[in-house]
Amino acid sequence: MTYHAFLIKYAEIAIKGKNRTRFELMLIDQIKLALRRCSGRFTIDRMYGRIFVNAQSEYDYDEVVENLKLVFGIAGICPVVILPVVGLDELKKTTAEIFGQEYPDRNVTFKIHTRRLAKNYPLDSQEINAELGEAVLTAYPEAKVDVHEPQVMVTVEVRERIYIYSHTIPGPGGLPVGVGGKAMLLLSGGIDSPVAGWMCAKRGLRLDAVYFNAPPYTSERALQKVKDLAQIVSRYTGPIRLHNINFTEIQLYIYEKCPHDELTVIMRRYMMRIAQTLAKSADCDALITGESIGQVASQTVKALVCTDDVCEMPVFRPLIGFDKEEIITISKKIGAFETSILPYEDCCTIFVAKHPVTKPKLDVIRSHEQNLSEKIDEMFARAIETDEIIQIDRDGEKILKHREDAPVEQAE
Ligand code: ATP
Ligand code: MG
Repeated sequence: MTYHAFLIKYAEIAIKGKNRTRFELMLIDQIKLALRRCSGRFTIDRMYGRIFVNAQSEYDYDEVVENLKLVFGIAGICPVVILPVVGLDELKKTTAEIFGQEYPDRNVTFKIHTRRLAKNYPLDSQEINAELGEAVLTAYPEAKVDVHEPQVMVTVEVRERIYIYSHTIPGPGGLPVGVGGKAMLLLSGGIDSPVAGWMCAKRGLRLDAVYFNAPPYTSERALQKVKDLAQIVSRYTGPIRLHNINFTEIQLYIYEKCPHDELTVIMRRYMMRIAQTLAKSADCDALITGESIGQVASQTVKALVCTDDVCEMPVFRPLIGFDKEEIITISKKIGAFETSILPYEDCCTIFVAKHPVTKPKLDVIRSHEQNLSEKIDEMFARAIETDEIIQIDRDGEKILKHREDAPVEQAE
């Protein structure tokens, strides 16, 4: 028995009224992107207030399900068998077959739920329920009917065709990428930031990303790791534009001019400033980081106050209240962990002080930053100008702007 279609279920909360159409159209866009990865031809139809993915050719069931499971906004995926309007005997036979296929154990309680919308069908819904229930019981005597709390619900919709579906494969939930606008993710090579990006994308944000690179102190392999992480996140979000910023000059200058126990805080203030400048020109309304309170010296509340001092746009820190173990669980679930733990150095780890301040004072930090006034504007401008932009998606990467400052190409 092959499935002809998939009924896409989504949580309807927050998508009432006018938002609903917008939500559905964006979900359809994301589903289309996911199906482009799959062999076979499909149409996506909004029918009866729901979304159906209809197979128009042979296809690989596992491949389609695996790809749909990456689409935020999908709460569940129901494989559907579609029949022309057939007589009762054939409907009984098919329903029993579907039940046997989906519940090989068969030792379950079930209920048939018929919706007869084609009023010319010769039996009414109650009669169809009774007939199909009996057909299943005859074929599989171990199964039992339970109309109140069945383990299995087999839905039969009689319309211009007959739709039969039963089990639901869980989707990732959330909202379709794009409905919530766009944000700039500060993506390092660690465990936290890919998870933070994934979590915001799950709430409907499209992502761009920025990586602060410190060549020659950091290697090509460290950059490759960040690109690989962006690619893992892009399986869920669609294409991500990664801004590869050369941060060496600014870091060395801070190192030269500022107290070493304040390096991390001041460096993070410059990361935020640069990220924000990029965010504005990339039409992003917020920044995202992987910070969680108290994880390291730069993530104490007082340090976060110093970081936020330079930000005009909201900074989303979805991991703020998470323990490392909780973050690792999500990192593994989204397939990033193995890459995140590869041992390549990060710019933060290279210029780190032995005893960083854990309670930096904002006025002190601001005044020490004045030591940088001579050259920092120039360096800041150079870091932005020499931004390399790499568009990353599941198929690979494409450089949109080279280090040599070639003009930005239009992304598709
Ligand atoms: P992660 O595991 O994400 O690297 P972390 O625990 O190592 O985080 P920090 O190094 O203090 O924490 O960085 C905090 C956040 O700042 C990161 O989650 C990330 O969002 C951002 N960040 C740090 N370093 C970089 C970098 N080199 N490039 C881009 N963003 C960075
Ligand atoms: Mg880090």
